[in-house]
Amino acid sequence: MTLHPFRTCREVTSLVLAREDRRLALRERAAIRLHFLVCKACPVFERQVLTMRNALDGWRHYREGDASDD
Ligand SMILES: [Zn+2]
Repeated sequence: MTLHPFRTCREVTSLVLAREDRRLALRERAAIRLHFLVCKACPVFERQVLTMRNALDGWRHYREGDASDD
């Protein structure tokens, strides 16, 4: 039984999502980088997550700026 050096897409996408909530361990970040070398889909998924996060940040700033209006 050998441990496969590359994580599955499912593991990597869950790590990308977990990264939004917590700081990943070095080996978890390395696992993402390593997987991205051999996978075309997961980097696209990461970009979508980052785009979504930026949109949410912008929305939060908008709400904070609007908070005094009540
Ligand atoms: Zn993948």
